[in-house]
Amino acid sequence: MKLQNKVCLVTGAASGIGKEIALTYAREGGKVVIADLNLAASQAVADGINAGGGSAMAVAMDVTSEDQVNTAVAAVARAWGGVDVLVSNAGIQIVHPIESYPFADWKKMLAIHLDGAFLTTKACIPHMYASGRGGSIIYMGSVHSKEASVLKSAYVTAKHGLIGLCKTVAKEGGVHNVRANVICPGFVRTPLVDKQIPEQAQALGISEADVIKKVMLKETVDGEFTTVQDVAEVALLFAGFESNALTGQSVVVSHGWFMQ
Ligand code: NAD
Repeated sequence: MKLQNKVCLVTGAASGIGKEIALTYAREGGKVVIADLNLAASQAVADGINAGGGSAMAVAMDVTSEDQVNTAVAAVARAWGGVDVLVSNAGIQIVHPIESYPFADWKKMLAIHLDGAFLTTKACIPHMYASGRGGSIIYMGSVHSKEASVLKSAYVTAKHGLIGLCKTVAKEGGVHNVRANVICPGFVRTPLVDKQIPEQAQALGISEADVIKKVMLKETVDGEFTTVQDVAEVALLFAGFESNALTGQSVVVSHGWFMQ
């Protein structure tokens, strides 16, 4: 039990990578907060964890809304006394060539990925400082925190930005024993990626099979997708690591697509 009684807030935890991280943390004894846009979807994940003997609560949170973030984090602190681990994971993807990238979509992308990471960090970190136990903040980056791909100007910009935020939070949080790290997955088969396959096929004028083989997994060592479990294992390592030896880092989990 690496996270016994630690309060772990995971954004975007109703689906995909965030959901698997929440399930993994609950198995390790964490008290997990499922934070997502849709309360019913978050509640369903929390109910499943509670039914299996774990401990979870659901909160409605649009990570781009300062009010919603602050209200939800305050409710968690009232119920469970604080926050020990934050996983800022909520994210979406919108692809367009730069010359036709709608400004509204650009702003939406930066708001969810960067404002969301900032607002949840700002709301949770005072609880980590006040507890005297410190904490762990984990940002969901991407190989696109290190590399660029066509059609993804906003995503690549936002995911690179998370590395800067992480390093700053690691420096400011260090004296309070608060660590900050980034996980950078390659392609993982979640609803976010399933949506991109037909979009990229159309934008690039190739088949969906070729999008997977010749675009998404082309640079991997074995042509394999990264899995939600792979990412959750790294999220567990960061959450359970008890010293500042591991802070300000970004770990790429991508079947060798990107090598540091
Ligand atoms: P997903 O679509 O399965 O899940 C994303 C979740 O985020 C959804 O439940 C959605 O409701 C939630 N969300 C979206 N906007 C939100 C908002 N404003 N406030 C709160 N919640 C919101 O996607 P996923 O693949 O699990 O992606 C999770 C994270 O992992 C994202 O940050 C994504 O960029 C990153 N990532 C994914 C992959 C991949 O290949 N799937 C690779 C690298 C990084």
